[in-house]
Amino acid sequence: MRTFPSSHLIAVSVLSLSLGVVSMIPSNEASASRQSKPLALPPIQESAEIALPEAEAPLVVEPESPTLELKRLTVKNGDSLSLLFKRAGLSDRDMMNFMAEADQARKLESIRPGHELEFALNTDGQIESLRYIKNRLSSFAYLKEGEGFAYHEEEREPEIYQASRAGQIDSSLYLAGVRSGMDDKLIMELAEIFGWDIDFALDIRKGDSFRILYEERFLDGEKLDNGAILSAEFVNQGQVFQAVRYIHTDGRQEYYTPEGRNMRKAFLRAPVDFRRISSNFNPKRLHPVTKTVRPHRGIDYAASTGTPVWSSGDGKVIESAYHKYNGNYVIIQHGGGVQTKYLHLHKRFVKKGERVRQKQVIGSVGTTGLSTGPHLHYEFLLNGVHRNPRTIVQKLPKAESIDDSIKEDFLRQTQPLMAALIGDNNTELALKETEESGDTL
Ligand SMILES: [Zn+2]
Repeated sequence: MRTFPSSHLIAVSVLSLSLGVVSMIPSNEASASRQSKPLALPPIQESAEIALPEAEAPLVVEPESPTLELKRLTVKNGDSLSLLFKRAGLSDRDMMNFMAEADQARKLESIRPGHELEFALNTDGQIESLRYIKNRLSSFAYLKEGEGFAYHEEEREPEIYQASRAGQIDSSLYLAGVRSGMDDKLIMELAEIFGWDIDFALDIRKGDSFRILYEERFLDGEKLDNGAILSAEFVNQGQVFQAVRYIHTDGRQEYYTPEGRNMRKAFLRAPVDFRRISSNFNPKRLHPVTKTVRPHRGIDYAASTGTPVWSSGDGKVIESAYHKYNGNYVIIQHGGGVQTKYLHLHKRFVKKGERVRQKQVIGSVGTTGLSTGPHLHYEFLLNGVHRNPRTIVQKLPKAESIDDSIKEDFLRQTQPLMAALIGDNNTELALKETEESGDTL
């Protein structure tokens, strides 16, 4: 027998409310009632039943009533309300009546595949209640009330716990992440957090390692999904990168170094999704046409034709054209005298003169022009001189850091997250000292 969880909740809360009311009465009226009828107070159990307000009773569907038949339907592609009502054994007329009688019935029009409808029908086949379940946190219900149906929203808050994962890389971040129990979303988030400092397609080496502290969301003791990464560390070729989430007072969430420097930078290290890169590409091989090693001033990313290519920073397209050597190519002018070039594209998605944002898709990987296989040839120039993106990125202007005025709040919020990640008690102690010294001021 299926239970009816939300209604059950309502029933319980009504009951506990009435119990609360009843148990309050004796203390309020104690002195007055003691004189006239000292022993007349009814036992609490009994009064709880009496106290159930008649008016609210119709709102509460009997949680385990044998007279109600529950029909829970999952919305499928191509479903309409009419089809769903039919699957529940109801007619078009039933549906139209319901839509006319139910408060806020139009909200049912937002059904999408994956959502669920739960009909509770009485012995006459009439609707007693209809629940619309968007997901486990959000649903609403229409409960029979007199001639119509009253509308109730049911929002639930998940319980949030912290969890951590760590891994060491053999071949790729993706595989190491999966091996350590991370899902795709967490792996991508990790790559995004460090995506300004580390080129996950080309910089990764065997032995690189990472650890993350993140949120897990639970409902009724069951895991719903993973939430945000709270703090993270990535060791790339011996260099340690750390990041921690900070929630600003306006609700904005950003990642910073533990010292408060923004992780975001003007340029992404790699203009392609690292998961799309094939590793066995040798840029130094002899050119098949000229049989020489061409002077090579860029970075080659081998990926299958059609892989999206991102602009590595905000800027303006100054060339989008075809050339017999470059193939389809795009050149973007950024602030600070920086230019980036993207060659051998299969398709170009931007025009000369167009403004582009960081990570906007400007084309797709191809093998047009003088090229031996699908790859992106990427160049980074500062004041007309080719530079290595790995080393230049540290020298370029940085996004705004944590302002001194919020530094204290930043540290209070982020230090425990770093401490939990590193497992270092010193950081925690340092925080306590900061708090204590703050109190005495
Ligand atoms: Zn190249």
